Amino acid sequence: MTRSPIEDFFNLREVSILKIKEMKDKGIKVVGSYCTYCPTELILAAGAIPVSLCGTKEEPISAAERTLPRNLCPLIKSSYGFAVTDTCPFFYFSDLIVGETTCDGKKKMFEQMQQLKPVHVMELPTIKKSEASFQLWVEEIRRLRVWLEENLSVKITDEAIWQAIEIVNQERSLIKAICDLNQIDPPPLSGLSLLTVSWSRSFNSDKAETIRMLRDLKERLAVHQPDQVSVKQRILLTGCPVGLGTEKVIRLTEELGGAVVALENCSGYKTLELQTNTEYSDPIVALADKYLQIPCSCMSPNPYRLELLERMIHDFRIDAVIDLTWQACHTYNIEAYQVEQLVQQKGLPYLHLESDYSSTDLESLKVRIEALLEMAGNS
Ligand code: SF4
Ligand code: SF4
Repeated sequence: MTRSPIEDFFNLREVSILKIKEMKDKGIKVVGSYCTYCPTELILAAGAIPVSLCGTKEEPISAAERTLPRNLCPLIKSSYGFAVTDTCPFFYFSDLIVGETTCDGKKKMFEQMQQLKPVHVMELPTIKKSEASFQLWVEEIRRLRVWLEENLSVKITDEAIWQAIEIVNQERSLIKAICDLNQIDPPPLSGLSLLTVSWSRSFNSDKAETIRMLRDLKERLAVHQPDQVSVKQRILLTGCPVGLGTEKVIRLTEELGGAVVALENCSGYKTLELQTNTEYSDPIVALADKYLQIPCSCMSPNPYRLELLERMIHDFRIDAVIDLTWQACHTYNIEAYQVEQLVQQKGLPYLHLESDYSSTDLESLKVRIEALLEMAGNS
């Protein structure tokens, strides 16, 4: 039987738990985060392991609702639920947590989380065009550096930051190259495979190994039989972050015959074009420049997301766009109007879905996705 080219990524999260435990036993520290604005390069430069802690399961939500309101984004409730029930091994291993003032729900949740672990919240400016915003973000990254140094008892040198920048730049460009392979028809990776690779890689404690795995995958995909040989409608998924456990929209779309060829959200393409510019003399300024360009809906205005979507629609030869908003995510919900206008200008069908982490709406999602695929097939 032919080995799937993404097989190494299937159990990466589980394998990483064991590796992180071994490294913890040797005294290496772990720093958890909940957002792509967290400059992981500083964590790497401090000799610690960065881990992503965003909750993608429904199970811990009821525990979170004992403290947090029910009418809150499921990603926040799942993340907090895992923390408060201590059922996520990555949270358990985390010595420190880094948060940012992104959306209201997340920043208020961090206040609660401070009772469980040491949490440092970075003040993220939400208007990225102004010089004052840039200076604030530079200072926030400097403040994080000092906090990590104090709490991890290490010195973070400029040289170590540049080395970490090089590693993260390499990782990003490889994962982007893999995503870009799906521009061809038929695409080598299904949406689920794409998600498995891009989501699972963030759990690997060994970045050098992740880079080797991505390089190997890229080479193997060049000669591998595609996941789907006969693709009808090529779908772009945008909106709130999705991970394994919250992939229901991707799964349904593909079960119904569509091919999710590109993911624009945070687990997908949103940050992959952004490389830290190594021509700056100060690595902190270089990091601030890169991270402030992330096109999250928390930014106002957020034109780069629309520009990115426009490019992706063209490059991935998209037939229809699905925009997924998790319940009570106001920023993505409001921005959906602009995304709809853009997609309609391109003459493509657009579907905005609001959902949560439960399976109660599977039937209605199925009906709506089926209708979209039919429209895309006729257009
Ligand atoms: S969508 Fe925005 S707030 Fe959420 S993880 Fe991405 S960058 Fe962070
Ligand atoms: S999905 Fe929206 S509400 Fe939820 S954490 Fe991300 S930005 Fe905040």
